[in-house]
Amino acid sequence: MNLQGTVAVITGGGSGIGRATALKFAREGARVVIAEYNEDTGRETVNLIEAAGGEATFVRTDVSDFAQVETAVNVAVDTYGRLDVMFNNAGIGHFAPLLDHEPKDYECVVQVNQHGVYYGILAAGRKMRDLQIKGTIINTASVYSYLASPGVFSYHAAKGAVKMMTQSAALELAPYGIRVVAVAPGGVNTPIIQGYKDMGLEENMKRHHMRRHLLEPEQVANVVAFLASSDADGINGSVVMVDDGLAAF
Ligand code: NAD
Repeated sequence: MNLQGTVAVITGGGSGIGRATALKFAREGARVVIAEYNEDTGRETVNLIEAAGGEATFVRTDVSDFAQVETAVNVAVDTYGRLDVMFNNAGIGHFAPLLDHEPKDYECVVQVNQHGVYYGILAAGRKMRDLQIKGTIINTASVYSYLASPGVFSYHAAKGAVKMMTQSAALELAPYGIRVVAVAPGGVNTPIIQGYKDMGLEENMKRHHMRRHLLEPEQVANVVAFLASSDADGINGSVVMVDDGLAAF
């Protein structure tokens, strides 16, 4: 696996899966644009990459705003001359029983987790088409794209859509040679679920993993890097489970 000479945009690259993927990509030779809402953590990822001898740029990006996602894509091309990989990964969780879940919370989750992925597909797809680059778009779905769990309603709605958007976009972008795939993590040891210990989310996920512990972000990053590489050229429109067998139960 080798990403030498490639350029990637990673949304949500300031933490968890996004940061682990940015570091992995940089180690594999990619130049990386960190498109992240949180300026401190986004810049910290850039510093970590540079300290290890890699190249990275931070662009403050709210993925729920199409213009900002377009800007991140443009920065990649203006700075590094191309765009090979778009990792639409930024996401938030708002977990509560359905009847306690306010419309504004639902809308917020869908705006970031679903529309943010759509904006990334659109901005990167147009740019790759215009530059005639046979790139790869990778989305972060979830086991919750497939399996229902209590208190996860809006997240299910958004992640279910990410699964189908991946398949639909793969079909539409195939004529340009662009692949679209997704990863569907199980429970990963990051702030998104660490914040919901009281709801038992973490314990519930651990219980359903075959080896009874959470995944580490690096385990997801390794699969994303593989999907971004030419080794995965035969994979298109697929959602790859990275869930220690959770979905197999
Ligand atoms: P995380 O909280 O560590 O990282 C998410 C990152 O996205 C943060 O840096 C955050 O600042 C950023 N972000 C949030 N809203 C944003 C916005 N509007 N614009 C730009 N950046 C924004 O969590 P994570 O677990 O690394 O999550 C990454 C992805 O993985 C998410 O899509 C999440 O839904 C998905 N996922 C996580 C798990 C898990 O168990 N941790 C499981 C399945 C899927």
